[in-house]
Amino acid sequence: MKTHAIIPIFIPHRGCPHDCVFCNQRRITARSGDVTPEDARAIIETWLSTLRPLSAAADGADREADGVNQEARKGGANAGGVRTVEVSFYGGSFTGLPLAEQSAFLAVAKEYKDAGRIDKVHLSTRPDYIDREILDNLRAYTVDTVELGVQSFDDDVLRASGRGHDSRAVYQAVALLKEYGFEFGIQLMIGLPGDSPESCVRSARETAALGPALARLYPTVVLPDTALYDMRCRGEYTPLTLEESVSRTLAMYKVLDAAGINIMRVGLKSSDLVSGDTYHPAFRQLVEGALARERIVPLLDQAQASVQSAAHSVDASTATKSDPQPQVTVTLYSNHHWFSNMIGHKAENKHFFADRYPQLSIRYAADDTLPGGWFRAAVTRP
Ligand code: SF4
Repeated sequence: MKTHAIIPIFIPHRGCPHDCVFCNQRRITARSGDVTPEDARAIIETWLSTLRPLSAAADGADREADGVNQEARKGGANAGGVRTVEVSFYGGSFTGLPLAEQSAFLAVAKEYKDAGRIDKVHLSTRPDYIDREILDNLRAYTVDTVELGVQSFDDDVLRASGRGHDSRAVYQAVALLKEYGFEFGIQLMIGLPGDSPESCVRSARETAALGPALARLYPTVVLPDTALYDMRCRGEYTPLTLEESVSRTLAMYKVLDAAGINIMRVGLKSSDLVSGDTYHPAFRQLVEGALARERIVPLLDQAQASVQSAAHSVDASTATKSDPQPQVTVTLYSNHHWFSNMIGHKAENKHFFADRYPQLSIRYAADDTLPGGWFRAAVTRP
């Protein structure tokens, strides 16, 4: 299985004169001060020294490193080994840096790519910081993936969030990225000021229509020392409840998933934050657990209905009200990546199914022939 290690290089708020209401880059990246190209080199070396045993273990030796992303972990990086190593410039708006500074960082990454020590170069930026001059330069440094912080396709939401660009900038950026042949990604946020369930789904649909290679879904987190925090204190902004946030994200997730888009991340990592009281550390599992529940309920409804119709067909003359109903066993299957989602965060799905279907004895098992996010139920009668 192809696995993927990411070497993240955070460039906090560099190149960005904007003040999006939710943003506190220094806090999110838990760092202060400028990162130089030489720092980038040191970061790459440090990560490669961690990953080197992984590469050397192409014979299948056990291995794992913090740089292996969530999908790689789920895919069993230990067993299969890392196949692709990517340097990613995250943080501010990379292409908002002066061209010479972009080039200085990219030259370091290219050096490692030319030497075959990394495979890909990835960066994130704003949609309105994409033009031909910038893309010519990225192409010269063999950048592979450009990720756009789109956040929403709703112009009212973008305005209320202080983004400083509208949705037209996104379409223009994507058209140029496609023309140049760059792989691109789209980040969306859930619960920004002015956001609604409808605008979230619309953003997901627009994203699906543009066909990015990857997407990330970030529920809005209210960080201290941001405009959003002040807005909340003044009663001008009310964060979503966790349930609302999960429900909106789930609706977006389904749109993107149905379009075959790789949803690289759902929710922030704990290491992304210093604080933020609307943050949940297992947000992805909440969303995928909710999807699992939604898909499993019809399977169990069907199993329950078959139990009830079997009970009705028992000859009334041979059954009394006090006769215990024989319990039917239903085994639910998912592939092993989705097993914990099937059970749910803190076994919430398991408890929910047990309460809702007392006539069924429910068991859980793995079946790796199933695609991720899909389930089956096998009924065993006593
Ligand atoms: S564009 Fe990005 S870095 Fe700049 S303020 Fe907005 S979120 Fe922060």
